[in-house]
Amino acid sequence: GFKCGIVGLPNVGKSTLFNALTATASAEAANFPFCTIEPNTGRVGVPDPRLETIAKIAKSAKIIPTQLEFVDIAGLVRGASKGEGLGNQFLGNIREVDAIVHVLRCFEDENVTHVEGGIDPIRDAETVETELMLADMESLEKRQQPLIKKARGKDKEAERTLALIERVLPVLREGRPARTMAVDPDDAKAFRLLQLLTAKPVLYVCNVEEAAAAEGNAISARVEAMAEAAGARTVVISAKIEEEVAQLDDEEEKKDFLESLGLKETGLARVIHAGYRLLDLITYFTVGPKEARAWTVRRGAKGPEAAGVIHSDFERGFIRAETIACDDFVACGGEQGAKDAGKMRQEGRDYTVADGDIMHFKFNV
Ligand code: GDP
Repeated sequence: GFKCGIVGLPNVGKSTLFNALTATASAEAANFPFCTIEPNTGRVGVPDPRLETIAKIAKSAKIIPTQLEFVDIAGLVRGASKGEGLGNQFLGNIREVDAIVHVLRCFEDENVTHVEGGIDPIRDAETVETELMLADMESLEKRQQPLIKKARGKDKEAERTLALIERVLPVLREGRPARTMAVDPDDAKAFRLLQLLTAKPVLYVCNVEEAAAAEGNAISARVEAMAEAAGARTVVISAKIEEEVAQLDDEEEKKDFLESLGLKETGLARVIHAGYRLLDLITYFTVGPKEARAWTVRRGAKGPEAAGVIHSDFERGFIRAETIACDDFVACGGEQGAKDAGKMRQEGRDYTVADGDIMHFKFNV
C-alpha cells in the first residue's frame, strides 16, 4: 500500500486531523473501512463516486473502496535531526512513507500554546524542512566515505551513487530540499535508493479557524503563495470542523452541517484526494454481482502490474485484461451493453492502465 505521513510541529492539529480521519472511516464502516495497524497508523477508504455508480449498475452486493494509509508522525521539534524530542524515531517513520502531509498552524487561539512563539506557518514549514534537510545531509555524508573507497575499486554502481551524492549535498547545503533537484532517468533508481526525506512529495495542509474553513484566511493565503512558488499543493481545512463532522453518523446531517459552513465536501476527502494525486496514483475497478471494488496503481502501470495488486498469481500468469472504460460502462448500462457496443477491449501485457478502467483479468494458474 501507499503511505502518507502526517508531519508538523506540536500543537498544529495533526492528531485532531488524524483522529478525524480514523473516526470518519470507522463511522462509515461498510463503505470506508478503517483499520488501525498501529496506534498511529490507519488505512482510509478513498471516496470515489464512480464506484457507487458502477456498483448500482452491476447490482453488486458489496462495495469496497481502495485505501490510502496515513501515519501520524509525532515528535518533530527544532533539533529533531540532532535527537531532540523523539528525533530519530520520528525521522525513521518519515523514511517509510511515500509522501508527506505537512500540517501548518494557521489558526489563532490563545489557549493553544505555539512551541515557536507566535503564529507563522512559513517559519514553521522552514523549521520542519530544515530538520529534514539536516537529516538528509547527515545520512549522505555517512555514506560518502565507504563509497569513495569502493568507487576507487572501479565499482560502477558506487561511482554513480557517489556522483549523485556529490550533486545532492550542495543543493541541501544551500537550503533547498532534494525534490527540487532535476534527476535524469538514468539516475532515478539510485536517487530513490538514497531514501532522502526531502525527496518525498509534500502536501501542505493549512489548519485554519472554523470561520475560515471555506475560503481560508490571510495566513493560509501566504502558505498558498509559498507552496505555489515551490511547486507544491495546499489544502485548507479546519481540523476542529473535521473533528465535529466525524462525530456525526447521519449522512444528511453531515451534508447539512457542511453546507451551512459553505463546504461541498469534508476537508478530509480533499486531503485524501490530494494525497492520491500527490502520489500520482490512479484507480481501476473490478465489478461483478458479488462486489464492486476499487484498486490503486501508480500512474503508468501496465496490465500485469495492475493485476499483481490483486494477487501475485494474476501478475505471474497474466494473459490479458478485458477492459471497459468506466464512462462507457455507465453510458452503455453495464458490461453486456458495453460488449454489444464494442466498448470492451482486449488489452495485453503492454497496455498502460487508464484511470477508471474496469478490468477483468485472464490468467494462467
Ligand atoms: P498536534 O500536536 O499537532 O497533534 O496537535 P493537536 O491535534 O493535538 O492539537 C493541539 C491543540 O490545538 C488541541 O487542543 C486542539 O484541540 C487544538 N486545535 C487543533 N486544531 C484546531 C483549530 O483548527 N482551531 C483551534 N482553535 N484549535 C485547534
